[in-house]
Amino acid sequence: MSSVRALKACLVRKMNYYLKIGGLIELSTVDIPMRACSVVFLAGCNFDCVYCQNSSLIPADSGDLIELTKLVSEISKNMLIDSVSITGGEPILQPALISLCQELKKKFYVSVDTNGSIPKIVETLTSVVNRIALDIKCEFNRYADITRAPSHLVGAVKESFNIINSAITVDFEIRTTVVPGLIGELDVSAISRFLTAQNFRGIYVLQQFWNEGDVRELKTVDTPTRNELIKLAKMAIDLGVQEVAIRTRSRGYEFIS
Ligand code: SF4
Repeated sequence: MSSVRALKACLVRKMNYYLKIGGLIELSTVDIPMRACSVVFLAGCNFDCVYCQNSSLIPADSGDLIELTKLVSEISKNMLIDSVSITGGEPILQPALISLCQELKKKFYVSVDTNGSIPKIVETLTSVVNRIALDIKCEFNRYADITRAPSHLVGAVKESFNIINSAITVDFEIRTTVVPGLIGELDVSAISRFLTAQNFRGIYVLQQFWNEGDVRELKTVDTPTRNELIKLAKMAIDLGVQEVAIRTRSRGYEFIS
């Protein structure tokens, strides 16, 4: 093997055994319904959402390299959790994600958050995790403005939706972050109509935007109240979505009827 090919092979091996992480929360009760989980933040994202609350994890060179086995062993020491939530950044960009999920699933209920931009990886994920939370961030015709990602990725998000919606062995959540003045009634209404038309089988979750930490551009926007989220959730139910929840920092998931 030439030295260039040997180096390439070595790099690929390394990518498959290392992850770039931006943080680890040891215990959360608000990230997966009815479960106590650890939350792993993977670094790097291919979107640049206006409201991103983890914007320091967007750059490709953000985060710290950690060996997969070391990360799994670190998480496994935690006796207080029954599950792991993998979020970001965008987890599906990391080559070692599938191996990480396979290892964690030997011991835990595993959930991955994704923006759905790479349907092929989302499809693989459906056989190695227990749960997927897919963002539908806004009305599809506003996607390029809100995510500042190429407009063709809307098609990829819809394809990912169809893949997960048909994968009946995986728990499925669609998630929209409500941002006052930016993402609200019109978006939730359009998304609800889309979900109803697609025979959506999962839970539609409306979560609070929090103006703190890594938020860059919406420094004066307030957090939507619990009552505002409940109002939007009831509208989604009226538009035919069967299971709707809100997610707030103070109470975690609450199912609305
Ligand atoms: S997809 Fe998530 S991590 Fe990426 S920019 Fe958007 S909000 Fe931030």
